[in-house]
Amino acid sequence: MNKRYVFTFPPDIVNRPIVSEIAKHFDVMVNILNADVTSGREGKLVVELEGIEENIRKSLEYAVSAGIGCVPLLKQLQFDQEACVACGVCTSVCFSGALTMDSESWELIYDPEQCVVCGRCVKACPLRLFSITMEG
Ligand code: SF4
Ligand code: SF4
Repeated sequence: MNKRYVFTFPPDIVNRPIVSEIAKHFDVMVNILNADVTSGREGKLVVELEGIEENIRKSLEYAVSAGIGCVPLLKQLQFDQEACVACGVCTSVCFSGALTMDSESWELIYDPEQCVVCGRCVKACPLRLFSITMEG
C-alpha cells in the first residue's frame, strides 16, 4: 500500500534525517513529494510512504515520538483538462512542478504524482477548472 502524509518538523529537529531513519528501521519506501525545510524554522515535507500497513503504522508512530506532526493527505485535485485554454497562469503558482507548460506544443501538462493539493491553482485559474475533493 502507499499513503501520503504531511510531516511537520518543529524548528529544533528540522535537520534530523527522519526520512532515512524510517526507511532504515521499518522497510518502508519514503518518496518526498515536496519539501519546505529551512534550518532553525518549522519545516514541512509531503511524503508518500510505501510498504505493508503495519510498517507504515510503525513509521508514523516513530515520527510522532520524535516530535513530528503527521497528517494524512486525504484531499485530491480535480481538473477539467478539456476546458483548459493553456493560458499558463496556474503554472506560475504551482511550486511542486505538477503543472507545467509543454515547451513545444504550449499545452498544459498536469502530473498528479507531483501534486501536493495546496490549492493555489484553484484560486489562480481564471476559468475555475480546478477543485479539491476528499478521498472516498
Ligand atoms: S494543488 Fe495545484 S498548485 Fe498545488 S501542487 Fe497541485 S497542481 Fe500544483
Ligand atoms: S490557469 Fe486554467 S486555463 Fe490557464 S492553463 Fe491553467 S488550467 Fe488552463
